[in-house]
Amino acid sequence: MSDSGNYNLFINGTWRSGGNGTDLALINPATGQKFGHVAVASASDLDDALKSAEDSLLRWSNTPAHERGALLVRAAQILKGKIEPAASALSREQGKTVAEAKGEYARAVETLEWNGIHAQELSARFSIDQKRMIVPEAIGVVAAFTPWNYPAVLNARKLAAPIAAGCPVILKAAEETASAGVYIMEALEEAGIPAGVVGLVFGHPPTISEHLLGSPVVRVLSFTGSTPVGKQLAKIAATNLQRCVLELGGHCPVVVFEDTDVPKAVSAISEYKFECAGQSCNAPSRILVAQSIYEDFLAKLVHASERIRVGLPDDPETDMGPMANARRIEAMERLTKDAINRGARVETGGKRLDRPGFYWAPTILSNVHPESQVLHEEPFGPVLTVEPFGTVEDAIEVANSTEYGLASYIFSDSPDIQKRMVRSLSTGTVSVNYLKGVSADAPLGGIKQSGYGYEGGVEGVRSFQNLKLVNSANVLAID
Ligand code: NAD
Repeated sequence: MSDSGNYNLFINGTWRSGGNGTDLALINPATGQKFGHVAVASASDLDDALKSAEDSLLRWSNTPAHERGALLVRAAQILKGKIEPAASALSREQGKTVAEAKGEYARAVETLEWNGIHAQELSARFSIDQKRMIVPEAIGVVAAFTPWNYPAVLNARKLAAPIAAGCPVILKAAEETASAGVYIMEALEEAGIPAGVVGLVFGHPPTISEHLLGSPVVRVLSFTGSTPVGKQLAKIAATNLQRCVLELGGHCPVVVFEDTDVPKAVSAISEYKFECAGQSCNAPSRILVAQSIYEDFLAKLVHASERIRVGLPDDPETDMGPMANARRIEAMERLTKDAINRGARVETGGKRLDRPGFYWAPTILSNVHPESQVLHEEPFGPVLTVEPFGTVEDAIEVANSTEYGLASYIFSDSPDIQKRMVRSLSTGTVSVNYLKGVSADAPLGGIKQSGYGYEGGVEGVRSFQNLKLVNSANVLAID
């Protein structure tokens, strides 16, 4: 693709502008300037996307699973060959560094590949005993919605598992990061995906979600984004009893125990936290540190945060780029001000940088009042709070005190503490001495207000299958 920064819809195997001729401007977060456009889908575009998805269902679900898998593997190879231009486009529209964007595309490639390699075995029937078996079947058309923070890997996750399972997918990708949807669609198109099996639409998010989920043709809602929007969509999906996979927000605690190697923990935390300017649902947001090492830990964390080089995302010297949009800057201002008004100390950062674009300094807050908004609302930015804890019981209570349940992290070398924390933390994922992004081969799912259902791994493909139970009076003749 010659990347002009102008992106269209992909419906029934062809690229088109929006039916009403309208589009949305794209803004480069590093400069605040417009650089391109994305087409807006009309109601008739959405109807066409639904019709072509419905028409392709039978053919795609009856395509042998090994052929579906081979197509995904081909698409992965094609995408791999385009990582350089795709990562530059992603960096320009999202603000993450080019290096981060390349890493994200590598994970998108891995996701297409993993689902391709496993398509056949996950579509195969399997026995419970000699007289009973399970036949996995494609559930039907999927409506998928992705956000702007990790659009390449999230689009790949939203598309690969249903394609492997035999389901057509209509993807409403985030408008602000349109290129990430376009590059992946082009890779699937070039790999030979039949018309209608995948569709890509952009536009006014609530209008699109109401239109798509209002159709009984859609059998699954697959959404990644904020908890309030996830709840709204789940309510609409209830009308047609569409299955929901909801990967929502997080507010992720890190609990650091006194037996921890402090420099190692600090560098792992600051490296992961400030990736993508902290705009990740899995990013640490609250650090709880054992009282005996609190002062040492805080000083080292502040030092590490001050060494983060903030700058233009296409400069190889930059560690952290701008935030993705002006809304995030407003949120950082509001959360920081509220914390300060309630007595918080700004250890470092705490302000917008005086330069064009949407830049917020890496920020560490201490002495944060428990009722501060930043301890309850997903910060979704480069802001971390740090507080000491006395006993393990206190740490568990504070770590579990938000309504979210996505991910948590602990740093300790003690097997007893590790066991106890893994058992006690109410989150879908618990990571021990480890901070890394999600992988293609493992299920990710939130609990509490972080959503339900699984994306990734075997369970991620099962989300798009009906498991038909076959019972027989005699030993089953089918194999
Ligand atoms: P938002 O909740 O308005 O939007 C989040 C995403 O959902 C966007 O991509 C948007 O296009 C989409 N969206 C919004 N309304 C929709 C609707 N009715 N139907 C379909 N899609 C819809 O918030 P925002 O300002 O874009 O992002 C900020 C908040 O979003 C953060 O505070 C964070 O909680 C959340 N978020 C979470 C994730 C995640 O990975 N869980 C990713 C991005 C954003």
